[in-house]
Amino acid sequence: MRADIITIFPRLVEAALSEGVVGRARTAGTVDIRVRDLREFTDDRHRTVDDVPFGGGPGMVMKAEPVYRALEAVRAERGNPDAVVLMTPQGRPFRQQDAERFSRMARLVLICGRYEGVDERVAETLVTDEVSIGDYVLTGGELPALVVIDAAVRLVPGVVGDAASVDDDSFTRGLLDHPQYTRPAEWRGRHVPDVLVSGHHREIERWRRHERVRRTRERRPDLLAGATLTADERNDMGAHDAREKEQEP
Ligand code: SAH
Repeated sequence: MRADIITIFPRLVEAALSEGVVGRARTAGTVDIRVRDLREFTDDRHRTVDDVPFGGGPGMVMKAEPVYRALEAVRAERGNPDAVVLMTPQGRPFRQQDAERFSRMARLVLICGRYEGVDERVAETLVTDEVSIGDYVLTGGELPALVVIDAAVRLVPGVVGDAASVDDDSFTRGLLDHPQYTRPAEWRGRHVPDVLVSGHHREIERWRRHERVRRTRERRPDLLAGATLTADERNDMGAHDAREKEQEP
């Protein structure tokens, strides 16, 4: 995967991309992520990327031309992108499926807005996806772009050592993950569930499956409609329903 992030805060983005799993994947060459300073695509002395909004009102708006030029430079250097993503609170909510789709792309470009946002003509002519990371407003698109890149990069084959660990994660099949425990088996008087230290792999798997279903029902019942459950998971759901019925007054 080749990704380019267009921002007026390249150091902020570069710092976050240098650590941990993503940092290692970049060093190893598994992914190739570059950060582009939007100001390098201006041609005035002050390297201006923003201007006042037409129609008046508070704040500033990011100009279209520097973004256009940055995209042209990326296109010339890296080839035609599969997606040009604009980070915006008005975009489609970002989901695990989007992370999967982006992780399969060979070339990806992310544009980080600032101020009151980006001149709408950028979205109209240059952008393929408008993506929001949640229903709240941030000061810029850098953290959202990092969220999208982080979620996508960890799904690129070879980035996370044990592919199975990614398969079991929350949302992968529409369920939350089961709880996790590590040593010591007793911590400040609290024990880990017996089954996990029993050595019975089938029982452990059953417990985990059960916990995934239970947690999802308790915390995110909205996910269940879209989940692809195995026959065993559907059984767990059935058992859970039956128990709830018994408890009804
Ligand atoms: N006036 C705009 C918000 C601008 S916030 C509006 O109400 O829609 C400034 C920039 O931060 C945006 O251009 C966008 O790139 C980024 N941003 C803020 N919140 C975001 C979110 N929830 N998801 C993605 N990007 C966001």
